[in-house]
Amino acid sequence: MKLEAFTVDNIPLIKKGDDLAEIISNNIELDDGDIAVIASTIVAKSEGQVFKLEDIKPSENAVRIANKNRFTPAFVQVILNRSRECLVESPIMLVETCNGNVCINAGIDDSNIEKGFILDLPENPDESAELIGKRLTELTGKQLGVIITDTNGRAFKIGQTGVAVGVYQIPAIKNWRGETDLYGNALEITEEAVADEIAGTANLLMGEGDGGNPVIVVRGMDILTEEKRTVKEMHRPDDEDIIKKGLRCLNQSNS
Ligand code: GDP
Ligand code: MN
Ligand code: MN
Repeated sequence: MKLEAFTVDNIPLIKKGDDLAEIISNNIELDDGDIAVIASTIVAKSEGQVFKLEDIKPSENAVRIANKNRFTPAFVQVILNRSRECLVESPIMLVETCNGNVCINAGIDDSNIEKGFILDLPENPDESAELIGKRLTELTGKQLGVIITDTNGRAFKIGQTGVAVGVYQIPAIKNWRGETDLYGNALEITEEAVADEIAGTANLLMGEGDGGNPVIVVRGMDILTEEKRTVKEMHRPDDEDIIKKGLRCLNQSNS
């Protein structure tokens, strides 16, 4: 078996309105089955999800949280605007975003963007992945998958990794249930987070700094599907999530 991952070179600094599929297809020859892995940063830039912090009016709640965690109130407000629930307010903000991903700062970045500006995630990254994927197929005639990635921290472990925040024609989860191990035992619960694994692989080539490599092509996976899939497959149902329950308990006992 063989898996390849390579950068798409010559991607410019992305601006609102840029056609990412056109930029990608002009700079690489794609094959059927390829996966275009795209950093959420450039999807957000192309969708105009860029804000000036000085334009944000913080609420009382944002000021209260900012007094605890020492972020600027405006930055806290942007995080709150993009969150359904704040699980930890200080020293970091751990939130469930409106899309259901639990992450630090709602995925809002102030890196790889001009000074004074902040970058939100795409509003609906599954939908963005689908739009880019369909446009890539229109331009190339190839059947392709798309994964939109972000860099997230991990609970209990030091070190960030690339994760999938949007998918098109790619399963987020591969279910091994019903398959057997080397000794013929039936696998009962193994679910593999394949989209996150591919995102992590691509992130090795993207890096986090000034590399200028926001698009990676992953070739050789053979996992494209025509079924409608979503990153929401990865989000553990609320009533099964003991960590969230624990954090809510802690918040209640502190208030
Ligand atoms: P995130 O993981 O989606 O938050 O994105 P990062 O800020 O970590 O950037 C991932 C990669 O994309 C890095 O190699 C950056 O240098 C690169 N990158 C970010 N924005 C742009 C852009 O507008 N153009 C180009 N060519 N590269 C970019
Ligand atoms: Mn990011
Ligand atoms: Mn990153």
